[in-house]
Amino acid sequence: MSVSSPASAPDATAALLERIAARIGAGYVLTEPTDIEPHLIELRGLYRGAATAVVRPKNAQEVAFILEQCAADGVPVVPHGGNTGLVGGGVPFGGIVLSLGRLNAIREVDTVNSTMTVEAGVTLKLIQDAALAADRLFPLSLASEGACQIGGNIATNAGGTGVLRYGNTRDLVLGLEVALPDGRIWNGLRGLRKDNTGYDLKNLFIGSEGTLGIVTAAVLKLFPAPKSQVTAFIGVAGPHPALTVFESVREAAGDQLTAFEFMPRFGLEIVLKHGQDVQRPLAGDHAAYALIELTSPQADAPLQDLMETVLGAAIEDGLVEDATIAASGAQMAGMWKLRELLSELQGREGGSIKHDVAVPVSRIADFLVEATRACEAEMEGLRVCAFGHFGDGNIHFNLSQPVGMDKAAYLDQWERFNRIVHDIVARMDGSIAAEHGVGLIKRDELLRYKDPVAVDLMRTLKRALDPKNILNPGKVIAVSQDAPPALPPGKT
Ligand SMILES: Cc1cc2nc3c(=O)[nH]c(=O)nc-3n(C[C@H](O)[C@H](O)[C@H](O)COP(=O)(O)OP(=O)(O)OC[C@H]3O[C@@H](n4cnc5c(N)ncnc54)[C@H](O)[C@@H]3O)c2cc1C
Repeated sequence: MSVSSPASAPDATAALLERIAARIGAGYVLTEPTDIEPHLIELRGLYRGAATAVVRPKNAQEVAFILEQCAADGVPVVPHGGNTGLVGGGVPFGGIVLSLGRLNAIREVDTVNSTMTVEAGVTLKLIQDAALAADRLFPLSLASEGACQIGGNIATNAGGTGVLRYGNTRDLVLGLEVALPDGRIWNGLRGLRKDNTGYDLKNLFIGSEGTLGIVTAAVLKLFPAPKSQVTAFIGVAGPHPALTVFESVREAAGDQLTAFEFMPRFGLEIVLKHGQDVQRPLAGDHAAYALIELTSPQADAPLQDLMETVLGAAIEDGLVEDATIAASGAQMAGMWKLRELLSELQGREGGSIKHDVAVPVSRIADFLVEATRACEAEMEGLRVCAFGHFGDGNIHFNLSQPVGMDKAAYLDQWERFNRIVHDIVARMDGSIAAEHGVGLIKRDELLRYKDPVAVDLMRTLKRALDPKNILNPGKVIAVSQDAPPALPPGKT
């Protein structure tokens, strides 16, 4: 494809694109509107941006070259992995989109060191599959795993359903390779469990959402592959009994407890109403449900007995109203499907005001009760759909619009509910951005709730590493007056 300047691109940008095309190949510099279009929006359709081109480098050297050229001309660069991010972090507002999909090699699987070295554009699913092929587990697991890329996972410090046992992406990365806006490449691709040689640079880039450097490769931690697994679905009277059950299961199962996912009755009803090939897991209705999973690397681990004993005691104590344990792989998959479809299907109930928050696990039940009560009191007919990673203290506190209300009018109320939910989170010493990141949608909220010293240090780091402010400008933290506004959601 030619790199002739589109009508809107100034000559200087056309010259920049020519230089990039000369280095990476003209076929990898896309300027046709139809090629650019998918990169201007994010999944929820909350924002719509603009870009002059999408560039598709093949390796870290080409990425570094592009950054150096863009920095010289002061042209913004917005990195893209799978573009499954949910906070507007990948929406460009001018400049070029740097698409990492061609950095797609799995360079090494080292089963003795229990590590895998991968390039940034490999999808999470391919990494999981490569680990399993080597009889190992890469435990990061998200409903978007078929599309999201490890570079995006690292840039957002993704969470998912394995955090309870294995930690966030931050806990799964041993080494990184990062291209910097001055054209240098930091080679921190080391698979060490111990390295106390000064500042931990990798943790600076993990979760920085493309604002400090471009992740081009990583060394990931692998774990023994699970050989036995048991999954249960329970019905409870609300968040407090769920928390007590969580404590008992964790006490009995220790590290074998790998997931404790929560969903309210409204959430299950959404999936049963809109999902395909889904089955009601329990005969009756309950105020809330939890999916509990135990796994072990031992083939003959007595997980079924353990689950039956703990849940049996919880039923006797009146904490669990009903429970079922999956009797086959298909039933396990069916239970997980109920949980995983919820994020996607909730949108079928109209406008959804979303909060991705965390509180200490000990406060999670109090948070759910208090925030639900406060939001329901604020708007008649509001339907709270609070679900997610209960065992991590992380809830997707989503609010579905009242039936029949105008969607846009409802989404206009986002700020009002932010204040209610985020104030409760702050009072409980929680976080307003648990796993999806800050991006654009929470940039201004961050200023309201984050320690001012931390905000100042973040600005200092941004200015030091990206003095021309070309890397994903205006996301996470704004350092210039012309940053794109964190538009109210729904106003595109
Ligand atoms: C159905 C669904 C379920 C989800 N579930 C979860 C979940 O359970 N937990 C969770 O944490 N997230 C979840 N997400 C959100 C999303 O999938 C994650 O944030 C994921 O890590 C993003 O990866 P990506 O490759 O799509 O990144 P993108 O969306 O392309 O980018 C995300 C951010 O990272 C930057 N970026 C991308 N690649 C790089 C790179 N190589 N170097 C530097 N910066 C880069 C982008 O500029 C952007 O700011 C879900 C999304 C969907 C659609």
